[in-house]
Amino acid sequence: MKNAGRRDVSKYLIGQIDERLNDVGCPVCELTKKSVNDYIDTLFYESVNDPGERRDFINGQGYCSKHLLMIEEHLDTHPDLGILGANILYSDLFELLEKAIDDENIKIGNGCKLCEIEKNAQKRYLEIFADYISDPSRLDKYKNSISMVCLKHVQMLKKIKSVDFSSFLEVQKKKLHYLKKAMEEFIRKSDYRNSREPISRIEGEGWKIMSKFLE
Ligand SMILES: [Zn+2]
Ligand SMILES: [Zn+2]
Repeated sequence: MKNAGRRDVSKYLIGQIDERLNDVGCPVCELTKKSVNDYIDTLFYESVNDPGERRDFINGQGYCSKHLLMIEEHLDTHPDLGILGANILYSDLFELLEKAIDDENIKIGNGCKLCEIEKNAQKRYLEIFADYISDPSRLDKYKNSISMVCLKHVQMLKKIKSVDFSSFLEVQKKKLHYLKKAMEEFIRKSDYRNSREPISRIEGEGWKIMSKFLE
């Protein structure tokens, strides 16, 4: 039964990667971001009064600027969560903030809990993705998809021993080549003489694919 459970989990995770291949962006980045957003959601839905969470927030000297921004965006787009939780949590920081004004050695957000959540999720999804592309038919599926693993995660995949990195690199270079062609086509079709030619999805979103590749 234990093995069956594990198989179900990996089937579920493989399914998550499959889904992300239909989206512009890096599957590892997007799934990691989703994990952090899910954590933020639970935190502000039910855990903000949890003494452990509040202690972690204080011990980490608050959250880093990247994750404060993520929380802002999350609470703005999920008004049902309210803002009482953020008021309660952030209120714990005043004592430290007063000290930080006098002492530049105090770095707010230095031990950000959400950075730790992100780091763990990233590690997990990198391993799952490495497992995913070890199957040639799945690697092929990735090759033909709109998604593209970002530069940072290409370099991190290189360090995972189980990955056939040369096959992956070949695919990645092909994808870069398609992207270059698509962006050139978009520029060409932007000329009024060619403006009747339809623009494909990769041509229309090429700039965003590039931006997410470098994020
Ligand atoms: Zn990435
Ligand atoms: Zn952080």
